[in-house]
Amino acid sequence: MGDLTLEKDCKKDTEDKIVLYPSNWLYNAGVIGLLRVLEYKKISFDISDCVQLERGVIKESYNGIFEYHKEVLKERNFSIEGKNKRYPNYIQPKQKDFFENYYIKEIGNVSRNKFKICNWCSGYFLSNNTLVNLKQNFKGDFEKFIEQREKFQGIHFAKLGAAITEMPNAFWNLNFSMPICHLCSYLIIFNHLAFIQTSDGEIFINAPDFKVIWDLNEFAKEILKGTKDDEISKILGSSLLQWSIRRRTILGAWTMMNIEVIVKRKNIIDYFDLPQDITKILLDYEIASLIERINEEKIFDLILSGKFSELEKANYFVLKAILKLKNKEKLSNNDPIKRYFSRYNDLNYLKNVSKNLPELYAKISEKTRG
Ligand SMILES: [Zn+2]
Repeated sequence: MGDLTLEKDCKKDTEDKIVLYPSNWLYNAGVIGLLRVLEYKKISFDISDCVQLERGVIKESYNGIFEYHKEVLKERNFSIEGKNKRYPNYIQPKQKDFFENYYIKEIGNVSRNKFKICNWCSGYFLSNNTLVNLKQNFKGDFEKFIEQREKFQGIHFAKLGAAITEMPNAFWNLNFSMPICHLCSYLIIFNHLAFIQTSDGEIFINAPDFKVIWDLNEFAKEILKGTKDDEISKILGSSLLQWSIRRRTILGAWTMMNIEVIVKRKNIIDYFDLPQDITKILLDYEIASLIERINEEKIFDLILSGKFSELEKANYFVLKAILKLKNKEKLSNNDPIKRYFSRYNDLNYLKNVSKNLPELYAKISEKTRG
């Protein structure tokens, strides 16, 4: 996904607020992770396609991230200093006091700087005056400390090391010393909080719209609570379905085309998305409602794998099964209806299906024709 600037619902920065726009997945995951901490701290924020934050809450999120690990994740040893598993050497143990008592206190006061750029956002830097003041309280090589916060590197994402060297071009074309800003360098330590554990690795659903990202990942979490079946295509498909049913909004084509799942497995970063036509189908409110009414996993699987013409066949067998059941005939063991439905003996259910399935097929054909 390239650089995205979607400013349609977003306001501009003000003296007390900062507006964050969607960017690459790592940045987006950082923002969503930060929002999880704010939500836990009961601190309000505005989320639409962009995120609007009171400047003051940014420094509050720092203590929040430690509390969140302790209280929510029951993880007592979360750390960003020295050797640690997630953000190795993000700061040195001897810099901790400075970082917490001086640097973090200023992090909400960042602003644009015409001499510095950030590859991820519009660039939020501490002012030169602030840096001069901060330096007075720093012991050691201050320039090096700041330089580390202005370049994307291993301290920001331990697991990325392998991914970067193995497939530099596949990974948003990054080189190891891409310029980033002080705010991005801070946001990044929240990115792991956006990921959801599945049996197939940790996942994060990304999109070029923060509200869509937030929702899809919330739905994915709910779905994972209710099922053992956590194949990634199904989690994504079901989240999209929930989104259409609950939000009833039409997503822009650009947003639709750029929904993807980031999968973290040990040292490997993988990407997954559904074919365009399937995403389009699942994000259609009427189609989603019909799928929900039919409520049959095997039918959902057919749609997910793009086997739409099978729906017509399935309907034929539904009608045949209804006749047999009405005549009190027993369905044979290899009756084709069993390939499509688990509740093949439930006459009322099948009658309902026979009302919805043809409509579903027609609507899908209509949608995929164009
Ligand atoms: Zn930035």
